[in-house]
Amino acid sequence: MRLTTIGTGGVFPNTARRQSCAIIETSGETSGETSGEILVFDLGNGAVRGMLRAGLDPLFVDRLFFTHFHPDHTTDIPSLMFSMKYGMTEERTKPLRIVGPHPFEEFWGKFKTVWGDWMEPDFLVEVSELPVESGHSMELPGGALSWTPAKHSPESIAYRLDSTNGASFAYTGDTEYAESVVELARGADTLLIECSAPDDAPIPGHLTPSSAARIASEAEVGRVILTHLFPPVLELDLVTEVGKGFDGEIIVAEDGMRLEI
Ligand SMILES: [Zn+2]
Ligand SMILES: [Zn+2]
Repeated sequence: MRLTTIGTGGVFPNTARRQSCAIIETSGETSGETSGEILVFDLGNGAVRGMLRAGLDPLFVDRLFFTHFHPDHTTDIPSLMFSMKYGMTEERTKPLRIVGPHPFEEFWGKFKTVWGDWMEPDFLVEVSELPVESGHSMELPGGALSWTPAKHSPESIAYRLDSTNGASFAYTGDTEYAESVVELARGADTLLIECSAPDDAPIPGHLTPSSAARIASEAEVGRVILTHLFPPVLELDLVTEVGKGFDGEIIVAEDGMRLEI
């Protein structure tokens, strides 16, 4: 599978970093037919344009997954749905599946209260919600998706995808240190992990270089990719700082960066 970090910033307006969005392109074959999908994790401001910049068509993504409801993870929802309603240049027949943590269906309903039919394109859209607890998984064409509560807002979850070809990817969303996230990420090849603030100016509900390293180290992941980077933490040498507590590979994400997993 392939990861593209579309948005690696957060709440601070930043010309170099869009708000949260990561794409996983899965590959797979079922009965000789390609079953790869484009999975979107979070859809913050700038995500739709960021996909275009990365050569991905936002109008033909297969599934949207949300970690939580904060605006820096959800504000491109109406933008994408409006484009899917009126901006399609070719017909789309495959459904769009949209998933988020409980009470996501209520959250989605509020978007429809504001935007009405403009949120409803002319193809099937399935919206569903996940319980905010560990121990569940969902079979996708490209692998098995699991999730766990994160420590951020009441609905926050982190995701993991174990692909059919054996590669594993986990994404923390927003969180501070949480054993549940360590367990979810255990042994993953690649962990996309938030790292919002410096250790000397921590922000509740978020990770710092040392707490991100702690999760990565305890989970024994192969590689971390640091994201959700606020300006003060970017003044640090993040590879060195995270490297004090984690001896695997460390990459500081950039918008539009693409990696094989
Ligand atoms: Zn948040
Ligand atoms: Zn955030």
